Amino acid sequence: MTKPVYTKTIGILGGGQLGRMLALAAYDMGFRCVIWDPDPDAPALQVTNNGIAKAYDDKAALQEFIDEIDVAVLEFENIPCKLVAEIEKEKPVSPSSQTLAIVQDRKQEKSFFDRHGIPCAEWYFVDSEESAAEAGKKLGYPLILKTCRFGYDGKGQKKIHSDFEMISSWQELDCQPCIAEEFIPFNKEISIIGVRNKNGEFAIYDIAENIHKNHILDTSKVPADLPDGVKEQAEKYLITAMAKLNIIGLLALEIFVVGDKILANEMAARPHNSGHWTMDAAVNSQFHLCILAIIDHPLGACRRTYDVIMKNILGDEINTLDEPRDFKFELGVPYFYGKTEIRAGRKMGHINYLLRKKEDKEDKEKKEEKSGD
Ligand code: AMP
Repeated sequence: MTKPVYTKTIGILGGGQLGRMLALAAYDMGFRCVIWDPDPDAPALQVTNNGIAKAYDDKAALQEFIDEIDVAVLEFENIPCKLVAEIEKEKPVSPSSQTLAIVQDRKQEKSFFDRHGIPCAEWYFVDSEESAAEAGKKLGYPLILKTCRFGYDGKGQKKIHSDFEMISSWQELDCQPCIAEEFIPFNKEISIIGVRNKNGEFAIYDIAENIHKNHILDTSKVPADLPDGVKEQAEKYLITAMAKLNIIGLLALEIFVVGDKILANEMAARPHNSGHWTMDAAVNSQFHLCILAIIDHPLGACRRTYDVIMKNILGDEINTLDEPRDFKFELGVPYFYGKTEIRAGRKMGHINYLLRKKEDKEDKEKKEEKSGD
């Protein structure tokens, strides 16, 4: 007899804040969770009595995880592909090891964009001094040099201004395989998040407009203020990417807006920081829909219920939360991730500031006008 969906156990690989919020959403809906992260004090392990605090190459831990779960989901990209491939021999994993191999390597990701007609910055693969010099010649300066693997929040990337810097910076990046990318003088950075289930049914959240500080996401504003046609382009490329990657779960696409055109920057096949607004300002959060998608449940609504600004609490901002803020919003909903060590730029929590939707405000004003007649 097949197990009813509502009795399923979700395995979460990675115990950061995204894993914590996924687990809390799963618990909200009555599921069990098993969370695997080598760090016993990881944010997600703090909210479960079913944590596996063992190294990812621990064979006994792997068997325990596989035996306990019905389906697994990743909360960050740098889980070894080999581990995901082992698990998916027995239980489905979101994203699959094939998709993971693409989204955890910038060369694979850019090749994917090119193959499927998703526009992105011009780029070249760099794996030697010769290819570094050649890329500099072709792209001109400035350009951005990024390691193919393990880069996040601006780590593993440099802005390059000259031939000399190109070689020295590649050496400073330990001569790792890199991509050199055209520098984009964008007008805005945005992101779009979609969720898709096994039947190909999908839902797409409203686009977020993102402000980064020192390459780290600081603020996401929804709705985004966008030139005509940008939303349609973003949705089209997201739908293409979800279908070609056969996503079961979430896919976030980070995008540069240049004039009225868009260029894809990178993808994440997991919950995304710029989607945290959905926890308070959408019918279902990205975490709830991710869980529903991976257990083959019909997807719930993703409609936005408020205008919203999500502000990350970065590093020691957590110590100054009681100071008056610039924001004059109706309501702020705070989240802290349970991290004790404060480091510069570290994501310690976030606050969703809710505003009344513009349409609702206009409705109210009209009603007030009428009653004043
Ligand atoms: P990434 O790790 O690729 O998301 O890059 C982090 C941040 O660096 C982005 O959010 C942008 O603000 C900036 N950035 C990355 N690539 C480029 C580019 N090709 N041109 C201009 N800025 C970039």
